[in-house]
Amino acid sequence: MGCGCGGLAGLTGAFAEKDLKLLDMARKNEYAVSCHPHSLKLNGSDNGWACDGRKAEGGCLNKCTDFHQTKGWARYRCDQCDYDLCDKCCAKNLAL
Ligand SMILES: [Zn+2]
Ligand SMILES: [Zn+2]
Repeated sequence: MGCGCGGLAGLTGAFAEKDLKLLDMARKNEYAVSCHPHSLKLNGSDNGWACDGRKAEGGCLNKCTDFHQTKGWARYRCDQCDYDLCDKCCAKNLAL
């Protein structure tokens, strides 16, 4: 019987390149996405923002259709363009 401690090494080795990239994005709080020319930052303000994924084909993955529907959602934002994505739309478009 094994000691049960061999699994961890295997797990670490399974980290794909995109996982490392995602960790790097999280560390810098700069999320590069394919649907916007600038990287987005996780933003805590909850001021009735709307997910700009609603304008994309298929709409917002969290079903946001207008302002004031995003209370409590994670917000990924480009300040200079006033561009916001929810967590699902950001994850879908991450440039990994
Ligand atoms: Zn969205
Ligand atoms: Zn921008």
